[in-house]
Amino acid sequence: MAIREGKWRCPYSSGVNRGAHLACGGCGATRDKEVTFFLEDDAPEVTDEALLARARAGADWLCNYCGAANPPDRSQCRNCGGERGAAPSRPVVEEGAGMRSERSEDPLARLPEGEARSNPAPLVIEPGDASGAAPGIRGATLARRVVYAGLALVSLRSTSRPPRPPARSAGMNPAPLIIEPGGASGAPPGPPARSAGMNPAPLAAVTRRFRPVVTTVLLLLVAFVAAAAYFGLRRSEETLTVAGFEWERKVAVEAWRTVRERAWEGSVPSQARVVSRRQEVHHTERDQVGTRRVKAGTRDLGNGFFEDVYRDEPFYRERPVHRTRVTYDIQRWVPDRTVQASGQDHAARWPDPALRAGEREVSRSEKLVVVLNGKRTYRMELPEAHWAALQPGQPVNAVMRGGWSVLELKQ
Ligand SMILES: [Zn+2]
Ligand SMILES: [Zn+2]
Repeated sequence: MAIREGKWRCPYSSGVNRGAHLACGGCGATRDKEVTFFLEDDAPEVTDEALLARARAGADWLCNYCGAANPPDRSQCRNCGGERGAAPSRPVVEEGAGMRSERSEDPLARLPEGEARSNPAPLVIEPGDASGAAPGIRGATLARRVVYAGLALVSLRSTSRPPRPPARSAGMNPAPLIIEPGGASGAPPGPPARSAGMNPAPLAAVTRRFRPVVTTVLLLLVAFVAAAAYFGLRRSEETLTVAGFEWERKVAVEAWRTVRERAWEGSVPSQARVVSRRQEVHHTERDQVGTRRVKAGTRDLGNGFFEDVYRDEPFYRERPVHRTRVTYDIQRWVPDRTVQASGQDHAARWPDPALRAGEREVSRSEKLVVVLNGKRTYRMELPEAHWAALQPGQPVNAVMRGGWSVLELKQ
């Protein structure tokens, strides 16, 4: 469990200080409850025994009188001398991929033995805070920052839109904002407010100017589509004359042949003649061969130090499972050839497949077309009974679609 030293940013001078330091090196301000810690990615592991002892001693307690942070072994405030009494401690917070749990609701629950703090009382919330249920110092500070951000948004938006009630943004869940540990400065976050409040006036003007053009284009488009649909799909009736016939008929033939196939032992057909057998990978199975420690995140110890948090993950290995693969010969009906006949007369006939030994006919198909004369020449496929009943030169009433195809012939 590697321990690493964090940093904190002074809320008064913005100076960045070592986690071990209890006062700002820049302005001398004492580390107080406004301070939150952050861990830099490349922070080295702490090896010094004295620092390790401090890191493991527990979180700072926060003076009820002046707000100063004190090491857990002190019983009086190092800043004002006030008694520790029921002063709250900083929450110990875990952060990392997929794990984010504030410990303040039950600070003793996951602490290692011997590290249990004598005083797990919830933190005092400053009067004037909008959120009455802030989970701790960090939460309280954040809630205040959210109010700032909300107010900034409202003031920017009020030029063009009716302002939203600030109470709404203040009451929103502040949790998603706990992202960057470096943002400990007291200034309200700027960039989100700026982007949300981007001046909408020019955009509105452009929209207003082009609205008539856009509307006209849309109307023309709708009119065009409607006209195309009407002329393309409208039905009409027309008397056509039977001008000719076309036909095409096919017979598919299969042959009884020896084919080579492969199958797993156990699903080889009984009539098969086995050619060869060999072992092949049938599938793979996953065996757990142990566990692997992976770093899951860090724990803010509340005293300037951070502890790496690990998780045991199961570690698997793929194992191939072999079975017997059989190659065999077997007799099967297989597609062989198709015979075809066609003509441009009214005497459709089936082609003779001239079956030889070890062959069979499997399917027949046909396409029968009548040629019709009207304003144009049309071709239409018909079922055999209807096709055969028509006579050359015969007039037929047809339902046309769009004037370019025959939808149906009336009997
Ligand atoms: Zn400072
Ligand atoms: Zn104090």
